[in-house]
Amino acid sequence: MSHVSECYGELTFSKEVMKAKLNKIVYTKLLAVIESGEPLDEKIADDVAHAMKEWAIDKGATHFTHWFQPQRGGTAEKHDAFITYDENGEIIERFSASQLIQSEPDASSFPSGGMRSTFEARGYTAWDPTSPAFLIEAGTSRTLVIPSVFLSWTGHVLDLKTPLLRSNKALDDASLVLQKLLGNRSVRRTKVFIGAEQEYFLFNKELHDTRKDLRICKRTLFGASPIKGQQMEDHYFGSIIPRVRNFMEDLDRALFRKGIPAKTRHNEVAPNQFEIAPLFSESNRAIDDNLKLMNIIKEIADTHGMTACLHEKPIAGVNGSGKHVNWSIGDNTGNNYLEPSKSPLKNISFLLTIGAILLGMKKFGGILRASVACAGNDHRLGANEAPPAIMSVYLGEYITALFNEIEGLETVTEKKLQHISLGVQNIPKISKDSSDRNRTSPLAFTGNKFEFRAVGSSQNVAESVTVLNLMCAYGYSEINKKLTGMKGEAKSNALVILKEILKQTKDVRFEGNNYSEDWHKEAARRGLPNNKNTPSAYEEFFKPGISEAFEHFGILSKEELHSKIEIKIETYNKIKAIEYKTAVSMVRTQILPAILQHITNTTQSLKGLTDSGISSAAIKDHLVQIESYYSGITSHALRLEQSVHNAEKEDSAHKQSLVFADACSCALEELRSLVDSAERLIPDNIWPYAKYQDLLLKL
Ligand code: ADP
Ligand code: MG
Repeated sequence: MSHVSECYGELTFSKEVMKAKLNKIVYTKLLAVIESGEPLDEKIADDVAHAMKEWAIDKGATHFTHWFQPQRGGTAEKHDAFITYDENGEIIERFSASQLIQSEPDASSFPSGGMRSTFEARGYTAWDPTSPAFLIEAGTSRTLVIPSVFLSWTGHVLDLKTPLLRSNKALDDASLVLQKLLGNRSVRRTKVFIGAEQEYFLFNKELHDTRKDLRICKRTLFGASPIKGQQMEDHYFGSIIPRVRNFMEDLDRALFRKGIPAKTRHNEVAPNQFEIAPLFSESNRAIDDNLKLMNIIKEIADTHGMTACLHEKPIAGVNGSGKHVNWSIGDNTGNNYLEPSKSPLKNISFLLTIGAILLGMKKFGGILRASVACAGNDHRLGANEAPPAIMSVYLGEYITALFNEIEGLETVTEKKLQHISLGVQNIPKISKDSSDRNRTSPLAFTGNKFEFRAVGSSQNVAESVTVLNLMCAYGYSEINKKLTGMKGEAKSNALVILKEILKQTKDVRFEGNNYSEDWHKEAARRGLPNNKNTPSAYEEFFKPGISEAFEHFGILSKEELHSKIEIKIETYNKIKAIEYKTAVSMVRTQILPAILQHITNTTQSLKGLTDSGISSAAIKDHLVQIESYYSGITSHALRLEQSVHNAEKEDSAHKQSLVFADACSCALEELRSLVDSAERLIPDNIWPYAKYQDLLLKL
């Protein structure tokens, strides 16, 4: 096998390739777009398109596609061959600037949240030059993939990348103002860094495919708890089994070839659960890479006879999967504003950045929670394996002590400033140790970054990074307003402002165990939102000042925000309807027939025994019990079906979502409990699909 450095990025239109294929002027201009956020000079697009095509065709590509991130999740693509007719009517391969810059997928199949009716269903994708193009493979054929944004013809957002890019811009603007106010004149551009730790399950494909629920819904709807689940903790602490190690080797190699810096791989807590984490990179790139990674995990698993499942809660009773998002902010000079330093000025910037996040959490905590709301994550948030739906910030003992000191300051003198800065310098080691012990906080400071732990494994992290950026941009701009209005030295003023922030934001700081009952009570007393499901989380967007803030920071207009909410709720409804209908179908076409089969078999045995004069009271009791499950399951399936029907009769997506989240969910829960009880009594060889125990033991 070749060295990693030899194959690394070979499927990426990387800076090295650009440098080799483009003339110097074009390359320099493109680099300025990528590295410094300069606007694209469309005149260079022809050269770039030509170079991209040459490179892709040399590597065996026949097609190209724009690749974008619809709001309902996942990624989308529509392929076109490079072919066109030349002036003599002969087929040639061509890829023009206009094809690189803009493309028109059939947007009618993408939801627009009422912004655009189907008859005028046109949207377009536009090249995002800041994320590198790459190749995807199928057999021997390759396709050139161009990361893109997706907009309606009216210019409205239809994707998740555009708001992210806009939030980066908002943060950049606010941060540059602050840095200037603090006297830092060398900064040109702010950078947000993201490292996303991806959890996933692997199932034996044959067993997986026996289950309609896993195939259709990506999660199980029924299943009696396994005798051996995760109680031994032997998976997390065990070695990676060879089959999975082989898969991970192939996965890492596939990622390396696409220029994705896969760094860490390990077993997770639940049986069959694993994690992969890359080295962090700039947000836009890191998020695109995570989306690629999610697709690649599935592809590679498939070639190993396994099915990768990225659902947040595929199996009840063992841990679900999340995606910790590590977030930090810095600039083009190499600063990380969340990294304590030897320089007092940088430490002021450090303290203010934490202050900004606290202000942001105070205002947008409910929105941060909404950014991770989806049908799948509803099963995970608040269970004792993931942070609760209550958003708070954990800072660790050391910063807390430092903040207490700042809060108690009477006046800010040069000496006190030095002293505080010295305190900051000592943070990294201690903070990392102590923060690592608090794994229950949704947003924890971990030494040089914040770790946001509420994102679901299947989600596009762009949504929560957009909100984290918004929080920080908002916090910075509040600080900027105050600093601008104050006389005297910015450094000392900064501490005065921080003092005020600390007093205002006490409610959103919590250092204790986020899983505990006490915290839930305490959070309610503090008035923090605690939205248990997607429909209620989305109500947060309607609170005063929220849509105004999205508009003010140029992230989403009111209309765009409205359509986003609509799309989210519609997606939620569709997922729920599919789940409930799958459950009813499994009951009627698989579970009830299996139970009936067992009744028939048992009745025959009973007859044989009775004919032989053997007493069979226990068997009769058993039959009575099984029969009662049969009728209970039959009537509960009907009840579920009726409640779905009622939901679908509602005249708005919002009302529908409330019925799906409440009445239908209860109906499924009751149905499930009967099915799971029956499963425990029906012989394994009759049960129509793989039971949990097999799914979790046989990989
Ligand atoms: P763990 O959480 O398992 O202790 P780390 O916190 O060291 O591991 O790293 C987890 C992820 O955080 C990795 O993807 C890593 O690259 C990323 N990361 C590390 N430092 C930063 C940073 N300054 N900004 C953003 N992400 C970071
Ligand atoms: Mg971590």
